[in-house]
Amino acid sequence: MVSKEDVKVLKKTGDDENFIEECAKVVVDYVGSLDPQWDKRLKIAMDEKGWTNRQLCGSLMGVQLDRGLHLETPTHILFEPGVKHFSTKECPECQKAFTPKIAGQVMCSEACGLAAARKRKAARDEEVARSAINVEAAMAAAQAAMGPPPPVR
Ligand SMILES: [Zn+2]
Repeated sequence: MVSKEDVKVLKKTGDDENFIEECAKVVVDYVGSLDPQWDKRLKIAMDEKGWTNRQLCGSLMGVQLDRGLHLETPTHILFEPGVKHFSTKECPECQKAFTPKIAGQVMCSEACGLAAARKRKAARDEEVARSAINVEAAMAAAQAAMGPPPPVR
């Protein structure tokens, strides 16, 4: 395991590839633990490319830096300071307390996620119906203001 003391030594020398590999593994394992999909992708990248953890971290960061995207890369919600990924919170749908299995998980279950999605869709459909009624009313009002159409000769 990497200690804070080791990191201080690394900063001085910077040339110990095995130590950097160990540090990179800590980062890759942590990032993979936040989302099973990410974990899968990280492992696929390492398998396909034959990369070490050090190469994986270096490539993901190095390409961004080479392209001058250091200020274009948006902040990622999972890396905001103070965000507790796996602490118990309340489900906004059923109001029950739950512990997220995936970082960034909002609802307690798939059932609550589907229920919330159905509510959002119903609200959207209602809004569309309401605006259609408004268009009809506006057209009727405009027609009334213009008076009867001229007689056809
Ligand atoms: Zn719920």
